[in-house]
Amino acid sequence: MKFGTKAIHAGVHPDPTTGAIMTPIYQTSTYVQRSPGDHKGFEYSRTHNPTRTQLQDALAALENGQHGLCFATGMAAIDAIVKLLEPGDEVVATNDLYGGSYRIFTKIFAKYGLVFKFVPMHDVQAVRAAMTERTKLVWAETPTNPLLHIIDIKAMAEVAHEFGALLVVDNTFATPYLQTPLDLGADVVMHSLTKYMGGHSDVVMGALIVKDDELHQRLAFIQNASGGTPGPQDCFLVLRGLKTLHVRMQRHCENGRAVAEFLRQHPRVGQVYWPGLESHPNHQVARQQMRDFGGMISFVLKDDKVEDAVRVLEKFQLFSLAESLGGVESLSGHPATMTHASIPAEERRKAGLSDSLIRLSVGIEDAEDLIEDLAQALD
Ligand SMILES: *Cc1c(COP(=O)(O)O)cnc(C)c1O
Repeated sequence: MKFGTKAIHAGVHPDPTTGAIMTPIYQTSTYVQRSPGDHKGFEYSRTHNPTRTQLQDALAALENGQHGLCFATGMAAIDAIVKLLEPGDEVVATNDLYGGSYRIFTKIFAKYGLVFKFVPMHDVQAVRAAMTERTKLVWAETPTNPLLHIIDIKAMAEVAHEFGALLVVDNTFATPYLQTPLDLGADVVMHSLTKYMGGHSDVVMGALIVKDDELHQRLAFIQNASGGTPGPQDCFLVLRGLKTLHVRMQRHCENGRAVAEFLRQHPRVGQVYWPGLESHPNHQVARQQMRDFGGMISFVLKDDKVEDAVRVLEKFQLFSLAESLGGVESLSGHPATMTHASIPAEERRKAGLSDSLIRLSVGIEDAEDLIEDLAQALD
């Protein structure tokens, strides 16, 4: 089945009692048993809920996995993966990653004796040098946030497996429309469904997708034992969003290209970070592992002054200044003070993240209007 057909149909079945084509919102905490232990596969909604099950199945199908697991937020999904580890275990992660991932690693899990190393992951040698026999997880995010580096997923899977570690790929920026990491050797795909997958800026949720049955069992145990699960109403909203994922992503990519081309030739704009540009240092890897290049773009002004970047952000009319990304509407952000404020300034500088960097989540409006907005703000 092709991707768009899967986005609409995979994992979803008409409701067995009524035939409702849309998955009902099973707003219930518990399920009646006929006799002790004699139930229909549902006992308590932290463990299983039919609306959540259909979403989990749809996600597994889209990522070419076997099992999906949904969580109340992307962070709760990350929390569950790290709980696979034991004190003394090591994690090698990309140094250009979501600020919240950096924060949970360094401020929460480091306290429990886990060791985190951050490396520029587009450099395979740097990753290899950081690996030891205690490394249990390799944590990749690609495209990276906010510098849009591309990490070679296949190469990471080889290094991780050579050391007996699992490769986790945060696929939030790409979505399975652009890349399916499990096909390239990753063991776990992680999502903030809050972003492109939900797609309408109306829900916060996370997910994990795996192929391996045993790994699924371990993660499902943590999902139920720790309890960071989403409610059925939110699952319904993400299921609804998934049905247009391919159409939205196609437009995000087209608009992304139009905006990147516009910024690249603008006299006030310095470097433009978008993996679809041939000048992008990881463009070849992006071509190999991605179907298109997405709608996330970062750029700096030629003068690289923070005050000027702030003025541009204030002038935007359509690119609303807000945290988050991946919705139908265009957003702008200032990573140094917003999404990445939890990463110390020195770490940010080491990762090459300028305080004047502007990040755009290009929505699915008409490209002409978006470009007009950028032009007036830059002028
Ligand atoms: C937003 C985001 C997260 C965290 O997800 P929440 O749903 O906000 O908890 C993790 N990784 C990336 C890349 C994100 O953009």
